[in-house]
Amino acid sequence: MMKEVIAEAEAALLHTYNRYQIVLERGEGVYLYDLEGKKYLDFASGIGVFALGYHYGDFDDTLKGQIDKLLHTSNYYYNRPAMEAAGKLKRISGMDRVFFTNSGAEAVEGAIKTARKYAYLKDGRTDHEIIAMEHSFHGRTMGALSVTGTPKYREAFEPMIGHIRFAGMNDPDSVIAQMNDRTCAVILETVQGEGGIYPAEKAFLQEIRRVCDERDILLILDEIQCGMGRTGSYFAWQALGVKPDIMTTAKALGGGVPVGAFLMTGAVGAHSLEAGDHGTTYGGNPFAGAAVSRMIDLYEENHILEHVREITVYLEQKLDELVGRHDRIRQRRGSGLMQGLACDEPVGDVIAKALERGLILINAGPSVLRFLPPLVIERKHVDEMVEILEECL
Ligand SMILES: *Cc1c(COP(=O)(O)O)cnc(C)c1O
Repeated sequence: MMKEVIAEAEAALLHTYNRYQIVLERGEGVYLYDLEGKKYLDFASGIGVFALGYHYGDFDDTLKGQIDKLLHTSNYYYNRPAMEAAGKLKRISGMDRVFFTNSGAEAVEGAIKTARKYAYLKDGRTDHEIIAMEHSFHGRTMGALSVTGTPKYREAFEPMIGHIRFAGMNDPDSVIAQMNDRTCAVILETVQGEGGIYPAEKAFLQEIRRVCDERDILLILDEIQCGMGRTGSYFAWQALGVKPDIMTTAKALGGGVPVGAFLMTGAVGAHSLEAGDHGTTYGGNPFAGAAVSRMIDLYEENHILEHVREITVYLEQKLDELVGRHDRIRQRRGSGLMQGLACDEPVGDVIAKALERGLILINAGPSVLRFLPPLVIERKHVDEMVEILEECL
């Protein structure tokens, strides 16, 4: 049964992914089931999207209720769910202005445009530069790709948007060395995801914040993967004593409904994008708004952040034990429920074996096993994961 679906998919879809050879049919809690009924423990949550697992609380009912009312309005009009979602996002982030998008990459595009416009309004120049990090990942559209620090993703699509410089993550001197009077922004993931799970160090981030303040350079933090509670605070920067000028979010934001956002401080909001400067047909429609709004309520009603902080201790302990027991694992890195095990060799075979044994894992670069479970996992799920993984190692 799965073979036919896979064959038909391959006959119609553009082959831009080497997919695992299973067809997923439904989810329940922290488990997924394929078309033939096989059960999988999900430690990837659709790349960090299903933060609350599958069918959590009354989330589905909220979505169904909104479907029966109104899915879309366009941004020529107001709608209540988006208004509520924006207000809640402001509250949990401490940022002041929200623009809803349909994806993470689109949020990054908006952040870049905001930074350029802010700088343009200051000095009227059109040659502003942005500093991004090596090994970063910000998405696949041209602007987001231009600040993505993996040359192989960019090469065939050159020229990029231009005026982008790269520096070393956690190396403040290398960032400062790239700054000049045309620099309008520094962009980085508070915890690098695709690049191999590298958290920004507190001292690094604070130093970048200090220099950016000194020179009126905007700090953009990409929280698309590490945000929405994954590291134990709503946004990873909240635990590091810095605040960005612009922030992006997506992935877990809509709990499976495609939605992203870029947010900014009041100062940036008042001196950057104006009416006519930016737009989207779908962005912030009532359906996405209802999803975001209910997600944030569910986090609060169920103390999700507290749970993440608690279960993180256990997950880290179990992963550290694995590092101790297996020579091929070099190091554990990460923050909260965004963890990586850096190995000495490619991890593709481990992931394939895990899948066979009913555990869904993904990688972050060729030799890093990535753990992005739903935030609602419990100790027994960590134990189950470790048991299966151990067999595969
Ligand atoms: C996934 C991701 C993106 C891109 O998001 P899409 O929704 O796939 O466009 C951007 N930045 C980071 C840090 C991501 O993890």
